[in-house]
Amino acid sequence: MILKNLEANANTIVTEYDINFHIVNSNAELRHENLVNCDAIIFRSDYVSFVKTEIQRIRKADNPALYLKPIYVATKRAYLRLDKNVDGYLGDDELNGIVEEVSVLVDRINEIVDFDFPKHATFHQKNFIKLCQYLLTRDINLKARRSREAHMGFRYNFVNYLVPNLELNQFLDLVNDMKKVGYINTKLAERVNLCRDCSSSYLHFVETCHKCKSVDIESESLIHHFRCAYIGPESDFQQDDVLMCPKCDKVLRHIGVDYDKPSEIINCNSCNHQSQQSAILANCVDCGKENDLKTLHSKEMYNISLTEQGKNLAINPISLFGEYKAEKDDKLELEIDQSTFDLLVRQESKKKRDKKYASYTLEILFSEETLATLVPSEIRTFQMEFKKILVNYLQEIDLFTAVTPLNYKLLMISKTERYAEDMAETLRYNINKVLNDNFSDPEHQLQVTKIKL
Ligand SMILES: [Zn+2]
Ligand SMILES: [Zn+2]
Ligand SMILES: [Zn+2]
Repeated sequence: MILKNLEANANTIVTEYDINFHIVNSNAELRHENLVNCDAIIFRSDYVSFVKTEIQRIRKADNPALYLKPIYVATKRAYLRLDKNVDGYLGDDELNGIVEEVSVLVDRINEIVDFDFPKHATFHQKNFIKLCQYLLTRDINLKARRSREAHMGFRYNFVNYLVPNLELNQFLDLVNDMKKVGYINTKLAERVNLCRDCSSSYLHFVETCHKCKSVDIESESLIHHFRCAYIGPESDFQQDDVLMCPKCDKVLRHIGVDYDKPSEIINCNSCNHQSQQSAILANCVDCGKENDLKTLHSKEMYNISLTEQGKNLAINPISLFGEYKAEKDDKLELEIDQSTFDLLVRQESKKKRDKKYASYTLEILFSEETLATLVPSEIRTFQMEFKKILVNYLQEIDLFTAVTPLNYKLLMISKTERYAEDMAETLRYNINKVLNDNFSDPEHQLQVTKIKL
């Protein structure tokens, strides 16, 4: 069958050598139920934004028979504009040309175990599974590709139809975790510097005044007069057309003989501050934050390939949702989840006690501002370190839970009033110190609240 012989407005199914091609000309009656049952989809429309939207809808579906579907376009324009986000271009050629390729893809897709994503699967876990399956069925590696449209300056094929621009950073954090578990291999492709506040890579570098951050600065040479050893800015020496030393009134003629220019000085026209060096700021084009160079968030962009373990995961993805949970929990000894914690507190409060001993909860809370400058992976590291500190203070019969990175609850069982009070005081003192040592802003509003059960 030759495509150009087909009618150009209706969507049709064409069968060639037992392969069913769903030919899409328009969005009229384009239903996912119909697309699921075909072997490959061919977009004949030249209307790129329509094609792109439909591919996105297909890739975002939860059914592997749909989101892994081989997709081709029939116009060169669409193919170029979609930039490798489809399986190929076939122009007006015969469908015969891609029959073999499609049947290989269909076989590989059929290898994947029929499954549903569990209800607790997160958005990015689903995307990761889809990515593994895409790499497996297409037998490719994924390259980080430069892109002006990408918030981070780089994008990945396939992934860019699943993950919103602003969430790529979080997705890559998950990909990094998955590397540690052994599902993928990565090769460093690029290191990007991102805005501390919004992770944008669109930074505008400016030289500014150290004191007032104004860009209205000028540099000027310093002149060193050999004869009298006076050093001053060039403007102090300028008298009509000659250079004259303001200290000894001699005329300076030859550079290298009478004088030299040892360095430059920066004058600020806004605040008159003078300094030896300007301050470089990386101003974020997206959110306007003025980033100090040393506070830019450096992110590594990797090329991604599947390991054998990753290939198995792609075929049988359900294993991720048990396994990864254990990995992700990162629970320490004496740490339990919040619902178990609340249950134990309720039970503990009902127990009869003698006069001397009681059980106590201690709640630790500090303000959101404290962690505001950290990116998600840094927050996870902070939380892990913080929990390790907490565990050190607990006895073997005690327990704790991490409600959020800013909120922790401890359950201290059978303690004297004195012990509980001392513990609250010790934690208050030491956590205060940890927060002050690690964050420049001491406004963390730490609260340690003790409750007798
Ligand atoms: Zn200034
Ligand atoms: Zn002089
Ligand atoms: Zn920004």
